[in-house]
Amino acid sequence: MKAHDGIYLDGAWRPAASRDVIEVVDPADERVIAQVPAGGAEDVDAAVRAARATLPAWAATPPAERAARLAALRDVLTARKDEIAETVTAELGSPLAFSQAVHAAVPIAVAASYADLAARHPFEEQVGNSTVLHEPVGVVAAITPWNYPLHQIVAKVAPALAAGCTVVLKPAEDTPLTAQLFAEAVHEAGVPAGVFNLVTGLGPVAGQALAEHPGVDLVSFTGSTAVGRRIAAVAGAAIKKVALELGGKSANVILPSADLARAVNVGVANVMSNSGQTCSAWTRMLVHRDRYDEAVTLAAAAAAKYADRIGPLVSAAQRDRVRGYIEKGVAEGARLVAGGPESPRERGWFVAPTVFADVTPDMTIAQEEIFGPVLSILRYEDEEDALRIANGTVYGLAGAVWAGEEAEAVAFARRMDTGQVDINGGRFNPLAPFGGYKQSGVGRELGTHGLAEYLQTKSLQF
Ligand code: NAD
Repeated sequence: MKAHDGIYLDGAWRPAASRDVIEVVDPADERVIAQVPAGGAEDVDAAVRAARATLPAWAATPPAERAARLAALRDVLTARKDEIAETVTAELGSPLAFSQAVHAAVPIAVAASYADLAARHPFEEQVGNSTVLHEPVGVVAAITPWNYPLHQIVAKVAPALAAGCTVVLKPAEDTPLTAQLFAEAVHEAGVPAGVFNLVTGLGPVAGQALAEHPGVDLVSFTGSTAVGRRIAAVAGAAIKKVALELGGKSANVILPSADLARAVNVGVANVMSNSGQTCSAWTRMLVHRDRYDEAVTLAAAAAAKYADRIGPLVSAAQRDRVRGYIEKGVAEGARLVAGGPESPRERGWFVAPTVFADVTPDMTIAQEEIFGPVLSILRYEDEEDALRIANGTVYGLAGAVWAGEEAEAVAFARRMDTGQVDINGGRFNPLAPFGGYKQSGVGRELGTHGLAEYLQTKSLQF
């Protein structure tokens, strides 16, 4: 696997000031496949300075030219899609077919959407006797997780560049090779030097230095709620803007009139894909008591089909964390109907597709984000009970509702405290705003709502 031994700074790969390195490991067989620099505060400072120095020129670049660079980026990513999929598979462990269909294809669609939006967005508008200018916020610190390594990067960098911002990216330490490949693509797309910079490194070192840097105007973070809370505190103290995409514990609500087999099968697939490492995964399935036993049988059978198909978790630490939750579920009295805490393979950080029945809303596995292939099935008495359970966590990122009639599902979805709801298995839309209610985050990504995060307004009165 190709790796750069430097950081991408001011348009070129340059040696990092820090001598520390990160070893990249293939989670499927635990082999070290590459090493990359673990940048420090000095590297972050150099990157922020480069981003700040080019900000006036990039902000003044006509939107059509920014759109042209994003279109070129889309084309480079498209040309290199096989390499992207192979790189994600090598460092994240997801099966190659999933890497091709999701990890490579979705970021290409998002880059394409911003190439289009940058060209069409009204960066100026008339409001009565005022002209309102939508100007770039400035230098963006983008801090991303490993679970959708390229998507999380593109969902921040593409709208930031479209808006006229410049960027310093600190990607997750587990998946730096995908970030390096992205930096190569930005370079190939002809984005001017300094507009995009990459510092690979550890969260508490490079990430923290970046979030704290006085030269940063906006911190756009995706990751855990615990780290998001710290970043928000640091940014708040400096009156910096923040956008936070955090954890989730989404509910899949199957109303009595729904096609049960379809709702359960799609629900299980949703949780097992990417080995359950999806912030918006529907990890709580809510089923009416009259159909509960049937749903449990269907879910156990559906989960068993993933036993040979599922990839490993990203790291030994994540594997241990997820196993700990499975043990806790058993200890708290939930009934294991598929999978369990034992390792299904000798090598690699695999966890068996796991389903719990008889989960009650107060159990740890019904409240905390597990981030692994673990589904909890909860029983509800009536619709009000289902709503209480669905809304009864600190999170509110996504969810699903199934019903015989769309209108019935929509009526329920309107009452859910969550940022996105799929109705009867609705399809992904790269233009729909994505983000959380409650402790799932602040701000939105994707489409025009995602672009707006990187803009600030100035009003001229006439
Ligand atoms: P994490 O919070 O540990 O790390 C995310 C990023 O923050 C990484 O780049 C990490 O290096 C960096 N970081 C860690 N400590 C830091 C610090 N003190 N200061 C600055 N940066 C720091 O999360 P993770 O384990 O990598 O990812 C899993 C979490 O991300 C899950 O909770 C998941 O729900 C969440 N997530 C949310 C979304 C969303 O869109 N809402 C998407 C994907 C993942």
